[in-house]
Amino acid sequence: AQHFLARAQAHQNLGAFVSIDEEATLAQARAADALIAQGKGGRLAGVPIAHKDIFVTRDFPTTASSKMLAGYRSPFDATVVTRLAEAGAVTLGKLNCDEFAMGSANENSAIAPVGFDAPAPVRNPWNTDRVPGGSSGGSAVAVAAGLAPAVTGTDTGGSIRQPASFCGITGIKPTYGRASRYGMIAFASSLDQAGPMGKSAEDCALLLSEMCGPDLDRDSTSLDVPAEDFTARLNDGIEGLRIGIPAEFFGEGLSADVRAAVDGALKEYEKLGARLVPISLPRTELSIPVYYILAPAEASSNLSRFDGVKFGHRAKNYTDLVDMYKKTRAEGFGDEVKRRIMIGAYVLSEGYYDAYYLQAQKIRRMIADDFQAAFQQCDVIAGPAAPTVAWQLGGKSDPLANYLADIFTLPASLAGLPGMSVPAGFGEAGMPVGLQLIGNYFKEGQLLNAAHRFQ
Ligand code: GLN
Repeated sequence: AQHFLARAQAHQNLGAFVSIDEEATLAQARAADALIAQGKGGRLAGVPIAHKDIFVTRDFPTTASSKMLAGYRSPFDATVVTRLAEAGAVTLGKLNCDEFAMGSANENSAIAPVGFDAPAPVRNPWNTDRVPGGSSGGSAVAVAAGLAPAVTGTDTGGSIRQPASFCGITGIKPTYGRASRYGMIAFASSLDQAGPMGKSAEDCALLLSEMCGPDLDRDSTSLDVPAEDFTARLNDGIEGLRIGIPAEFFGEGLSADVRAAVDGALKEYEKLGARLVPISLPRTELSIPVYYILAPAEASSNLSRFDGVKFGHRAKNYTDLVDMYKKTRAEGFGDEVKRRIMIGAYVLSEGYYDAYYLQAQKIRRMIADDFQAAFQQCDVIAGPAAPTVAWQLGGKSDPLANYLADIFTLPASLAGLPGMSVPAGFGEAGMPVGLQLIGNYFKEGQLLNAAHRFQ
């Protein structure tokens, strides 16, 4: 823990951490040491990790990178945090992310990273003029720069897979409902999932095994599926594995450098005995409008709880209750969050609900059905995690340009399928490229096996 805290301090310029509390970390480390001495250390005994600042923690402040929650301290730990702690993990601190996990570049954080006195973008360690991806950008950077051996992230529409791709690390989002959402600050509840990010599929498998499992009393969408040891089948052979290649993931819009790296990875898979099968996911393009209707709709509802009464920020000067709500929310939320609340309120409003929200729900179902048709022909699906490598800081100031870059991660999110990003090589300017692997429901073990054999 001391080693990684020193590294985090030495690389503060990356902006990865939003809170560090050496005393709190070392207290956890001493407790882990005591358990190890009694032979009671869990599978992660003494392993230092760090959490995306979207998971509530008792020992560290929790902000979701929003001014709304600056200085907020939760009275309890998120289930994922508790489970990892029970396995012996020690928390190094909390990691920067886009405000309420809304973004693809980690440029939407409203909290000053450790060592800064104002909000600053998180920087990609491969080239500090480039973005790390988002929303789990701090998480990806912490692993890529060796500030933590492994971390947690969350993925609503790609926030684990895309930053993993941009930073050259491995990350997995499990089947929706596998990991408890209790204590994970809600963005779009029907999509939000927690997952690990690490240097390898093996490290991710270790963490994921501890993170998953039913939490039926606390998360109404938690699945009653027992936790699994995802390390058990890592070394199985993958001869005969049928890898589906969706034509729609390789069309125009995919940059040539990413395509070359992904093609190279697929050739490796053929050498390992896998078979490439052409498939189609015909509604891939629709996943963007569908997601950017449904996720803001759910966000507008979830974020109504930040009213200046129950949590965090409250405006100082106001005339009456409604004025207090208005000023609190105007001051507390950043631009992207406000944009999503407005879109969400609009698509849910009477007169527009049928045209937008209901239509989007129907297409979401069709997207899930398309995957089931594809899985008749293949075992896993492979393609790029993102259309390009990490772009320059400030390079995509138009929100729509950011939304469009989510095209390859959104389909699996809408279908609730497990997906991961595995380093596949390098593209333009020597920046990392991630290969995305998508599995059928509950096939995380198969994904991790395929990733491990490749690594
Ligand atoms: N980039 C997507 C968005 O901005 C996904 C974010 C996420 O997965 N949390 O909504």
